[in-house]
This record gives sequence, structure tokens and C-alpha cells, in this order.
Amino acid sequence: MLQQKTLVLNRSWVPITLTTVRRAVILLAAGAARAVHPATYEAADWEGWIERGPQQGKSLRGVDFDLPVPEVIVLCRYNGFPNRKVAFTRRNVYRRDGFRCVYCGAKPPQAKLTIDHVVPRARGGANTWENCVTACVSCNSSKADLPLKVIGYELDQTPSAPRWPGGLDPAALRSRPVWDRFLGPTKKS
Ligand SMILES: [Zn+2]
Repeated sequence: MLQQKTLVLNRSWVPITLTTVRRAVILLAAGAARAVHPATYEAADWEGWIERGPQQGKSLRGVDFDLPVPEVIVLCRYNGFPNRKVAFTRRNVYRRDGFRCVYCGAKPPQAKLTIDHVVPRARGGANTWENCVTACVSCNSSKADLPLKVIGYELDQTPSAPRWPGGLDPAALRSRPVWDRFLGPTKKS
């Protein structure tokens, strides 16, 4: 339970990161954050949150209290926004492309995905967000070192660096409806 994730909002209620329930409880106990009731958007401090009592069976049992598991917390002071740049990694390229081959749309297991260089490296293509896409093994090998035009492949979109809030993975946020509603305008980024 303590290793589950909690969404962290900055003072302006902008989602900035995910943390563990353990860390969220520490912040809450220290008065550095308030727990947010996902339905009413009420923010409660440690005392107020304990007073709510166990929610839907999800609570942490203390010596003399039951603490509802905080799914969302809002920081009391921090109002910044951590580095918005998403690290350029193989997995993040897959994430950006929805774990699908950009050429044929196949969604094989992750182990069967590859990174394809749109302009082949042999032809000077760079190792960048703009030149790297997710491809299945079969598309990648049939494309080989040929330019797209030659083999009739097309890209729906020009690849670009993703902008996830604070490096937050939008797919992870959408996995919990209570987080999804805090995404607001950054949702489509
Ligand atoms: Zn493919």
C-alpha cells in the first residue's frame, strides 16, 4: 500500500509528479502538503484527513488512527514546475508513440518494438526525438536503410519531443480517473 502512487500538485494545483503513498504521508504529517479529496476537491491537513476515516476500505492503520490513503496531495509552498523536458530514452519514444509501430499500427509486446531512424543513421540521420520513431521488427527490417519515400512508408505526424507535465506519463495519469481530472489543459500535450 505504501508503495502505491500518489499524485502531487504544486501550490497552484498543477500536477507535477507522482510519488509513493509513503512519501505523501510523510509530507502530509510534516504539514508540507494537504490531502485532496478527489470528489469534492477539498484539501485537508493531517488532522482533517484522519478525521475523514477509512475510505472504501483503503486506509493505513496507525497505532491510534486510520489514515485514508491519499491519492492526490497539494503542496503548501512549492509552486514551481520541475523540468518539463522528457528524457530522450528508448522507452519514452515508445511512450510518445503509444507503444505502436508508427508505420503499420501494430502493438506487439514491448520486447518486439524497435527504434527506427526516419532518416537512416547511415545517411546522417540524428538520434533525436524528431528522427526516431517506434517501429515493429518487421517494418524496421523491411525499411532497412532506405528513405521513407523509396519504400512508400508514411508518417501521420512529424515526430517531435513530447511535453508531458513534469515528465509525467499521461498514460499513467489516465490510468486513474481521480488523477485524470487534475490534468486540465496539459492533457493533450
Ligand atoms: Zn510495423
